[in-house]
Amino acid sequence: MAMTGSDTVLPIREFPGGAALGALVIPPSSTTRPYVDNLKAGKLSLQCCSDCRRHRNPIAPVCPYCGSSAYEWTASEGTGSVVSWVRYPRSYLPEFERLVPYVVLCVELTEGVRMFGRLADTDAEPQIGMAVSAIIERWTDDGHAPAFVPDDMRR
Ligand SMILES: [Zn+2]
Repeated sequence: MAMTGSDTVLPIREFPGGAALGALVIPPSSTTRPYVDNLKAGKLSLQCCSDCRRHRNPIAPVCPYCGSSAYEWTASEGTGSVVSWVRYPRSYLPEFERLVPYVVLCVELTEGVRMFGRLADTDAEPQIGMAVSAIIERWTDDGHAPAFVPDDMRR
C-alpha cells in the first residue's frame, strides 16, 4: 500500500518467548489491515488525519482531535523516547514465561503519539527519557508487534 512518510524498513526479529498468542496482536480488519500488513513488511505505520494533520494511536476510525473520518497512513521512523515503563516480575501468559522479568515501555514517538511495546533487549535498564527505536517482532506467521530497543542496540 502506498504510504507517505519514512522509507525506513525496521528490523524484524522472532519473538523470543514461547509461541505467542495470535490474540495478542492487532487483528486485521477493514480499518487495521494496512497497519497489520505494513508491520509484516517492516513498516511501522500511523494514522494521520487528512484534515488537522495530527497523527493518532491507537488506531481509530475518527480523529480524536477534530472528529474527521478522513485519514491516511504514514510510515514512522520508529524513533522516540521512553515516557513510562513497567517491569513484570511474573508472567500472566505462558508465552511470556521465559522472558520474566520483562519490561513494557510506553514510548512517545517523534510523530507525537504514544505506543506500548516490549523492551526487546532484556539486559538494557529502562529509563525515563531514554532514546529508543522500534523493531518489529514476529509473534505468529501473520501477527507482528512493535518492540523497542535502546538506540545504540538497534541492529
Ligand atoms: Zn483531525
